[in-house]
Amino acid sequence: MTSGAVPEPTIDDDPRIGEVLLTEQQIRERIEQIGQQLSQDYEGEAPLLVCVLRGAYVFLTDLARAVNLPVEIDFIAVSSYGSSTRTSGVVRLVKDLDVDLSDRHVILVEDIVDTGLTLRYLRRSLEARNPASLEVCALLAREKADTDGLGVRYVGFRIPDDFVVGYGLDAAERFRNLRYIALYREDGT
Ligand code: 5GP
Repeated sequence: MTSGAVPEPTIDDDPRIGEVLLTEQQIRERIEQIGQQLSQDYEGEAPLLVCVLRGAYVFLTDLARAVNLPVEIDFIAVSSYGSSTRTSGVVRLVKDLDVDLSDRHVILVEDIVDTGLTLRYLRRSLEARNPASLEVCALLAREKADTDGLGVRYVGFRIPDDFVVGYGLDAAERFRNLRYIALYREDGT
């Protein structure tokens, strides 16, 4: 509630949110481009967008609307044990798909490719289900990530090694609802 002249704090005022790496507009423009690319590459098809929960859910909703094709969507969830900003190296399936992948053109929609561990796991799991094709579309990839080797066909942005939050990406489940992507400062300094 607003009272008097002092503005209410917003979620953007949290001291753990650092420098903005990608603005809302930059993200929107890049997703439009990827959407156009997908519309060309899959012309005449009805691809299945597989969203990797939870980090990719915001990307998926904007990407799906940027694609001028009759797409279908489904969700898969994996988790890797570890602290809020470090993965442990062990990936586990938490929620499986509902849709049968056989003979489908599948586009795996990921938030960020870091070590590639999650992607390797998902690729193995989905390829075993005999899709007609399987491509990966990641909003972010580390500069160091071997996206060609991992078979990531579409990458929104390459980013440095720092931990980021916003636009679906969390730190201990917070900050997913930021409209931009920012550096995360664990100690808030
Ligand atoms: P990988 O398996 O490629 O090492 O890690 C991929 C997963 O780790 C992503 O799907 C994401 O959930 C998480 N992750 C990696 N880097 C970041 C980051 O900078 N911020 C957030 N919020 N999650 C990250």
